[in-house]
Amino acid sequence: MSADPLAAGPDVLEVRDLDVRYGEVLAVDGLSLRVRRGEMLALLGPSGSGKSTLLHTIAGFQSPTAGEVWLKGRRVATSEQAEPPERRDVGVVFQNYALWPHLTALDNVAYPGRRRGLGRRAAREEAQLVLDRLRIGHLARRRPAELSGGEQQRVGLGRALARHASLYLFDEPTAHLDTSVRGVFLDELVVRREATGAAGLYATHDAEEALGLADRVALLDAGSLVQLGTPEQVYAEPVDLWAARLTGPASVLKGTVVEGKGGRCVVRVLDTVINVESTGAAVEPGPVPLLVRPGWARLGGELPGRLRAVWYRGPHSDYLVEIAGAEVLVREPGPPRHTAGDEVSWTLSRTWPLRGRPQPEARPETGVSPTSPPGRSEHRPR
Ligand code: ADP
Repeated sequence: MSADPLAAGPDVLEVRDLDVRYGEVLAVDGLSLRVRRGEMLALLGPSGSGKSTLLHTIAGFQSPTAGEVWLKGRRVATSEQAEPPERRDVGVVFQNYALWPHLTALDNVAYPGRRRGLGRRAAREEAQLVLDRLRIGHLARRRPAELSGGEQQRVGLGRALARHASLYLFDEPTAHLDTSVRGVFLDELVVRREATGAAGLYATHDAEEALGLADRVALLDAGSLVQLGTPEQVYAEPVDLWAARLTGPASVLKGTVVEGKGGRCVVRVLDTVINVESTGAAVEPGPVPLLVRPGWARLGGELPGRLRAVWYRGPHSDYLVEIAGAEVLVREPGPPRHTAGDEVSWTLSRTWPLRGRPQPEARPETGVSPTSPPGRSEHRPR
């Protein structure tokens, strides 16, 4: 992994060798990470990978089995003792927002301001601003029972954002939001961070969301940290096939690295030698599964293939190229230039050798296999 660009910043959060157990289940397994001031760190992992448990432990709703949680240089939780949630300077945005049923939307959102010591009027003015930005300003006077589920959720988001914490914990906050509200919320998050310098830890199973909003992304598998890096690093240089699938559409090609250094790589694919773009680091020669992202291959070039499927996606088109009994997804701008069944030529412009953890589900011996993480459709548009 390359040097951490944020290494110099002060930490808002540090998690040290954390284990969290529910009976027999080790939900968080020896996890260490740090979040710097103003940084947004995404926790990206499939369902059950321990994201919620980690956030609950940082917030104080769950206790460590081993390890420590530090907030702004203060140790707040060990297996022996833990500060209660209200003593931690943390804003929590979970999937379920328990609103005060007897307060209006406005007063629900004004509540954190009041707790910070703002006068009633100032707290309400601030709350109205937050509601306006979340596009529910006109509903300010309604009580939760008079709001739809989505509207209640926005009030909950508003209340969390009005908290002015130095660290926010987000547990899949957009899971039940429709697309337009999701965009509004994510925009508001960016504006807030820029205005306050608050840091965030954002749990999601959605790679696009994680890569789009975070400064760094932590990949979680079964409670363990698999990779930590910038969005570009985890997308372009995943540590293994599992990480590649988790972070986006991935085809895998059986190949051999002939030579790799200085951002270029000479690879052999099906007896054809191609000079492609790769990582800045030196790549060891030898046979290796080669990762191909949809934008890393293009039609026209030295490799033969047959189109198994073609999808028009609006701004771009996806072509599933069959080659020697295997498949690679190629993405090009514009409407389709070919139809399924056509013989085409294609080539690689970039690749990344997948080393790292052995993967039983990897099938490099079959040549190529398009892959996607469990529960996601293959080859979906990004
Ligand atoms: P995620 O948020 O990534 O979906 P969770 O933190 O909810 O993951 O769960 C991590 C693991 O802990 C899973 O195996 C889950 O079944 C288990 N788990 C979560 N909460 C409990 C609980 N209250 N009791 C027992 N097991 C739990």
